[in-house]
Amino acid sequence: MLGGDYSSKFSAWLAHGCLSPRYIYWQVQDYERQRIQNDSTYWLIFELLWRDYFRFICAKHGTRIFRRSGLRGVPIPWKEDWPRFHLWREGKTGFPLVDANMRELSATGFMSNRGRQNVASFLTKNLGINWQMGAEWFESLLVDYDVTSNWGNWNYTAGVGNDARGFRFFNITKQARDYDPQGDYVKHWLPELGKIPAAKVHEPWKLIPVEQQRFEMQIGVDYPQPVVDLFKSAATNEQVYNAAFAGK
Ligand SMILES: Cc1cc2nc3c(=O)[nH]c(=O)nc-3n(C[C@H](O)[C@H](O)[C@H](O)COP(=O)(O)OP(=O)(O)OC[C@H]3O[C@@H](n4cnc5c(N)ncnc54)[C@H](O)[C@@H]3O)c2cc1C
Repeated sequence: MLGGDYSSKFSAWLAHGCLSPRYIYWQVQDYERQRIQNDSTYWLIFELLWRDYFRFICAKHGTRIFRRSGLRGVPIPWKEDWPRFHLWREGKTGFPLVDANMRELSATGFMSNRGRQNVASFLTKNLGINWQMGAEWFESLLVDYDVTSNWGNWNYTAGVGNDARGFRFFNITKQARDYDPQGDYVKHWLPELGKIPAAKVHEPWKLIPVEQQRFEMQIGVDYPQPVVDLFKSAATNEQVYNAAFAGK
């Protein structure tokens, strides 16, 4: 999630029509012939297929993509909890992976795909907040904003897309350990966590007072308490989600 090279950063140029996906495709073919075929060349083409996929979905379903009930038409009673939405938006949820990504978005207009999936899952599956609010926030900030990719991905992560496969949510702390093992990413965007060792930085709420003193930060003062319990909140929202599907 940190640095220039973990992904192509082509999205803004593709979204604004400055770069053709076909051109990228043929350049990758040449590169593979002349130099090397590897995981990176495979994944770049694979990701472009996602872009095409959402374009075709939109061509097929039209403005349904913007509906609260999503492409599946599921009447989930999403919350419009503005105070919690503000915490999410401002990167003050108490979950470092979510907060770092949201602060990166506000500061730069960009966020990695990994980040986008995690923050979207957190908003919808942990906070139970209307996914359209998240999609609109992304729309207002992303430098690579693209109608079909944004609203299509939000349908998908909220679990109301045409391909919804039940209630699936990201385990934020596991994702953080897997994709930011040294905590470099969260420390970059949340300097208040800078002195916490890697093994503890993704769950700062577990620090006892003497550790908080040692790492020069105080939970609830320098960095917020978690806004929800990760698993209890997901279990509650799963019941709401399943009930909406059952009544459909
Ligand atoms: C909730 C959510 C909202 C998103 N909103 C947008 C958006 O408004 N505009 C946008 O371009 N992408 C969006 N994406 C997709 C993806 O996050 C970005 O395209 C990607 O992070 C851009 O970085 P990159 O160019 O380095 O990607 P790379 O990984 O290098 O991929 C190359 C290109 O493939 C396309 N691509 C990659 N992943 C996806 C994907 N999941 N869906 C559609 N196309 C993809 C992009 O055009 C990208 O530039 C969203 C994803 C999520 C989960």
